[in-house]
Amino acid sequence: MQLPVYMDNHATTPVDPRVLEAMLPWFTSKFGNPASRQHAFGWAAEAAVESARSEIAGAIHAEPREIIFTSGATEANNLAVKGIAEAWRQKGDHIVTVQTEHRSVLDACRRLEKAGFRVTYLPVDGVGLIDHDQLAASLTAKTILVSVMAANNEIGTIQDIRRIGAACRDRGIAFHTDATQAAGKIPIDVRDMQIDLLSCSSHKFYGPKGAGILYVRSSNPRVRLASQMDGGGHERGIRSGTLNVPGIVGMAAALGISVASMDEEARRLRSLTDGMLAAFESRLENVALNGLREKRLPNNLNVSFLHVEDSALMMSMKDVAVSTGSACSTADPEPSHVLKALRLPKERLHSAIRFGLGRFTTAEEAEYVTGRVVESVKILRKRTAGYRASHAQVEA
Ligand code: PMP
Repeated sequence: MQLPVYMDNHATTPVDPRVLEAMLPWFTSKFGNPASRQHAFGWAAEAAVESARSEIAGAIHAEPREIIFTSGATEANNLAVKGIAEAWRQKGDHIVTVQTEHRSVLDACRRLEKAGFRVTYLPVDGVGLIDHDQLAASLTAKTILVSVMAANNEIGTIQDIRRIGAACRDRGIAFHTDATQAAGKIPIDVRDMQIDLLSCSSHKFYGPKGAGILYVRSSNPRVRLASQMDGGGHERGIRSGTLNVPGIVGMAAALGISVASMDEEARRLRSLTDGMLAAFESRLENVALNGLREKRLPNNLNVSFLHVEDSALMMSMKDVAVSTGSACSTADPEPSHVLKALRLPKERLHSAIRFGLGRFTTAEEAEYVTGRVVESVKILRKRTAGYRASHAQVEA
């Protein structure tokens, strides 16, 4: 086992060696621009891009023409939210999203608010689920878009996307889902789930950084979208800019592998995360799982170790790469907007650690990290208790 142990696979994943292999020729000998229609270099690149498009479409049950290549999920989310707002302005000015969405959705909505749109930010319950009745009640004749993420990047909570899709379809409202953490991890079927727009990012499923997609439904109904990038008219005019051919080839290979190994990988990761949680609960007191026990991403574990500052715990385990529930680690760390939205007791917000397991996480690593956490929590709690005792003496 090599140190430090990487357990932050929600932030990013390493490129799978099989993916890198598929990408390499597209940097060097096959470097053509797919928009170069006049020669063989361009044709080869275009063929590779179209093959990738088909493979990615197949993985989410879409048609190839419905896949728009982007630089990642941030761009895809921006394109979806702003693109619908601009194209559907005549129909309405109201958007519904959720307080626990990624910043790239929330901040795109904030910008639209400044431009005169109205946005409803739905609350979630204590485990991160929306209330479907509340969602239905928020929809008006002026609602043009609902954007709800498929799985949360901090607590792994999986929403009932199919149910939201049906509610939107009934009312002729566009439904966008940020599936950045879900793609390649849980099954996605844009037809069955009645999804109109879907974002994801290659580097979350063992592909390269800087590649992503926006799926845009082209029939039943056709979803119109205003482009947000002016230029040469690539991607049917929806997203101009020379395509990242190696990135796209890698993303397709990565998604193909992830979908093919999904069941087996989910089972293995689930058993590792379950095992870690069981060990925390049996070997430590005052441990609280954030999010759902069952309906969560199999590779996610978000746990609060009460009476231990998240940043202190992380700093005491430099050989373990995890992330905290806080947005920063300054003297006054702000808890993440996701944990805040769960309305947990303050103590739980400041002691949350996110473990993101992945394809290359071994059972040995999971055991090692568990041991390090248990040991560090015990030491830090003793110190805190000692501090309290001495402090009380001085005061007394
Ligand atoms: N949405 C979610 C749910 C994410 O987890 C992330 C990455 N943290 C993004 C969007 C943005 O992805 P990217 O940085 O690749 O654009």
